[in-house]
Amino acid sequence: MEDRRIRLGDVIDDYCPRCRLIMNHGVVGMVGEEVRKVRCNTCLSEHLFRHGRLPARRQAEKKKLFEEVLKGMPQAPEEPAEPPPPAHPQRKLYTIRRHTGGKGPGDGSRRS
Ligand SMILES: [Zn+2]
Repeated sequence: MEDRRIRLGDVIDDYCPRCRLIMNHGVVGMVGEEVRKVRCNTCLSEHLFRHGRLPARRQAEKKKLFEEVLKGMPQAPEEPAEPPPPAHPQRKLYTIRRHTGGKGPGDGSRRS
């Protein structure tokens, strides 16, 4: 199978400096077989192709931030799990209420 070459207009993943995320990008500039410029499909900003990598500085920041977050978190927040089924399901008791005295909702004498 032949390697699929990237061509102008192809959609590739790259880091978008505006979105600050790896996003879909369309190839808008090439030199030879090398992608040079891409346009973010999300914010439509054009920038040099970064080969899908985060900038080194940002990687470090992210790592630091991540470690800080980990440190600051005593424990993962407990997700409300599904309540366990009751071990002894109680039989539901119900009482029949009778209307005694006063006007009932109907006396049953209605005829059609
Ligand atoms: Zn973007």
